[in-house]
Amino acid sequence: MPVTGSTARPERLHTGRRLTILVLLVGLLSVLPAGLASGPAGGSAVDLAGDQRPGVIHLTFDDGPHWMFTPMLLGILDGYGARASFFPTVESIVSRWDGDTTQDLLNRGHTIGNHTWRHADLSQLTPWDAVAELDRASHGLADLVGHRPSCFRAPYGAAGDVVEAVGARLGMSLVGWTADPQEWRDPPIGEVISYLRHKRTDGMVVLLHDRKWLTLQITRTLLDEFTREGWRFEALPACRPTGSQEGRVATRTPGDLPVGQVQRVWRIGDEVVLDGWAFDADMPDGGLTIVLNADGRAPVRAGTTDADHRFVAVVEAPMVDQPVCVWVSNAGRRRHDPSLGCHTVIAP
Ligand SMILES: [Zn+2]
Repeated sequence: MPVTGSTARPERLHTGRRLTILVLLVGLLSVLPAGLASGPAGGSAVDLAGDQRPGVIHLTFDDGPHWMFTPMLLGILDGYGARASFFPTVESIVSRWDGDTTQDLLNRGHTIGNHTWRHADLSQLTPWDAVAELDRASHGLADLVGHRPSCFRAPYGAAGDVVEAVGARLGMSLVGWTADPQEWRDPPIGEVISYLRHKRTDGMVVLLHDRKWLTLQITRTLLDEFTREGWRFEALPACRPTGSQEGRVATRTPGDLPVGQVQRVWRIGDEVVLDGWAFDADMPDGGLTIVLNADGRAPVRAGTTDADHRFVAVVEAPMVDQPVCVWVSNAGRRRHDPSLGCHTVIAP
């Protein structure tokens, strides 16, 4: 019997029973055949790849940010034009990252959701304590990026109707996952990829954690194999807040790095067109230069923002599979030009 999903996670159990059952689980795993003990797919997965039409996969990364692994992960995602959803423990992100660093993650097109302030098991709290825990986390994220999150994920997947209702009262949708590679068990990468190949469907939500080397290796292998087969990686729709542009712009003061986002990418003939917005408090009336890089060529100026901070940028990009990378010129004191991520072109 394959061990899959959240039910295998010992953290979900009641405190008093955790240690005993953990010991039992460890004992059980030690007598299972290697294939069962080490891999989420249990070695019995049928490879359905040939029968599946490519769709969208949502990668999600919980419990960050990590000072080294999270920036490396962002680089890996950019390399494939992939977008993901992050669920940091808010006490950690508030203490480890400043507004510029957090906005950088959003600039690249990723989303941030509420994962409680201290990684609390919400199912063990009274409703009012759950409200306090989630509200403190939303408030902490709003302090960093100017808007409250529109989605939350319950630590350990421990949610029920009450927790979901509490989140809804705070303006958030509850999001879970449909595939859990359990990288906390250090499974071989090949087994993880086989498991995900077996589980994948259009809209699959993959649970990962941006605080391990193994996660980076899994992500790189997954992106490499699945994007070649036509699968796309996007942030969870429930985690894209409406009206976030105004909030994000409001966090900026002169001297801060620009913020922005590419919102659509499409192809017309040999040209790739991107639109989105960008704002720099050092140039509040617009006129920011947008720079693109396609096919590994030298970056080219490809547009400027208008008075509403919108831009439409065009670049010649004969390679279909190559992500187009975008930067916004920093109009303020000389620091780097922030990335607006790398984007895969969707065929017309
Ligand atoms: Zn977590």
